[in-house]
Amino acid sequence: MIEDYIGFDEKRLEELVQQIKERDKEIRAFITYVDKPTSYEGPFKGVPVAVKDNIVTKGIRTTCASKVLENYVPPYDATVVERLKKAGFAIVGKTNLDEFAMGSSTERSAFFVTRNPLDLERVPGGSSGGSAAAVAADMVPVALGSDTGGSIRQPAAFTGIFGFKPSYGLVSRYGLVAFASSLDQIGPMARSVKDIALVMQVIHGKDERDSTTLDVKIDFMKDLEEDINGMKFAVPKEIFEYEGLNEDVANSFEDFVKLLEKLGCKVERVSLPSLKYSVAVYYIIAPSEASSNLARYDGVRYGLREAGENLREMYMKTRNSGFGEEVKRRILLGTFTLSAAYYEAYFYKAQRVRRKIANELYEVLKDYDAILTPTAPVPAPRIGEIKDELTYYLMDIFTIPANLGGLPAISVPFGRSGNMPLGMQIIGGRLEDVKVLRIARAVEKAAIS
Ligand code: GLN
Repeated sequence: MIEDYIGFDEKRLEELVQQIKERDKEIRAFITYVDKPTSYEGPFKGVPVAVKDNIVTKGIRTTCASKVLENYVPPYDATVVERLKKAGFAIVGKTNLDEFAMGSSTERSAFFVTRNPLDLERVPGGSSGGSAAAVAADMVPVALGSDTGGSIRQPAAFTGIFGFKPSYGLVSRYGLVAFASSLDQIGPMARSVKDIALVMQVIHGKDERDSTTLDVKIDFMKDLEEDINGMKFAVPKEIFEYEGLNEDVANSFEDFVKLLEKLGCKVERVSLPSLKYSVAVYYIIAPSEASSNLARYDGVRYGLREAGENLREMYMKTRNSGFGEEVKRRILLGTFTLSAAYYEAYFYKAQRVRRKIANELYEVLKDYDAILTPTAPVPAPRIGEIKDELTYYLMDIFTIPANLGGLPAISVPFGRSGNMPLGMQIIGGRLEDVKVLRIARAVEKAAIS
C-alpha cells in the first residue's frame, strides 16, 4: 500500500529497484528500470510508481513497446508524471504493453511477453499488462495504465487488482502517446481502492496543454468510506445472452450481485439493446483515429529511420520495419474506414451508433447509481492460447461501452475461476467517479471481511 512507502529516500529506492529486478526476472513486467530514482519532496515522498511505457517521461526511454520508438528518450514529462513527481512519487520504471496499447494480452509487445504473476503460463491481460503484473506481484504499490477500450480494467481483472478508468476529460492526456484520442484515458492500478483514490487526487484536473480536460477539482477521499445502502444498480440483460460468457464468470457475477443486495442495494435487470454493437463500433473508431495518430512515425521527426533511395522509400521502409503486425492491421483498417469512398459507410455510421450506445447508457444512469457487468467474459487465457485477433477483440465487449460514453469504470477483484482471479465492473455516470470508487470500496470491505 502507498502509506508503507512514504518517506523512502534514494538509497532505499535504489535497493527497491534491485529487488524489483530480481522479482521481475520471471515476470518481465518492465521494459526499463530507473536504477537511481529521485525521491522528490512532497506528501508522497519516495512512494514508488511504475508507468506504462506509452506515457512519456523526461530523460527516461519511452518505447510504446514498439521498434519504431525503441530508442526514443522524451525531452519532457507527461502532465500526469509531472503531477506525480510534484506530489513526491518516485518513478521506478516503465512497464510493458501491447505495441501502442493495441491488444489485450501484452503478447503483442514488440519486445517480450509479460507473465501473469498468479500463473506464469498465463497472460496478465492488456494492454496495460506490465503495470498490472508489477502491482499484482507487489513490486510497486501503484502503477499508471491507459485505457482505450479496457486496457486498465481487463488486466486488473486478470491479475486480481483494482483498475480504474476515469471519466473522459478528468485526467490530462498530454504526454500519453495517442492511440484513439476520443477514447484514451490514463488511470491508476493498485491493490486497494484507497490507493486508487490517492493517485486520482494527484493526477486529475484541468491542464492547459490538453483542451479536452475539464475544469473540475474533485475530492476523491470524501465519502469513500460511506456505506452504499439504498443505491440502485442496473444489470444489462444482454450480458447473459452473450455466448462467450464463461460459466465461472457468470456464477461469480451472480455472487457479486448478491453481495450488493446484502449491502442494502437494489439490483435490477435492464435492457441496453445497442450494447451488442459496441465491439464493432470500437473496431472502426479506434483504428480510424489510430491511423491518423500514427502517421507521425515516418522516420523524419523522431524514432526509427530506415535509409531509402528517396523520401518515399524511407517512409515505407521505416514504417514497415518499425510497426508490428497488429499495429499495421489497424493502420490499414483505419485508413480504409476513413477513405473518401467508405467514410460514410463505416466511420460516419460508427460515430452515429457510438452516440446511440452512449445515450442508452446515459438514460439508464439517470435512474440507477451504476451499471454492473463482469469486467471480462473469461479469466486470463494461457500464453499463446488465443491465436486469432478476433477472439481477443470480442473479449472487450463489457469494457468498451464506458470508453464510448466517456464514463468512469472500475474493475474490482471478485470471484475465481480455478486458481485465477476474476474482476467485476462498476460503471458510473459522467463525472460520478467518486461514487464509483465508493461502491468499489464497499465491495472491498465486504469481500475481505
Ligand atoms: N483491447 C483493446 C484494443 O486492442 C483495448 C486496448 C486499450 O484499451 N488500449 O484496442
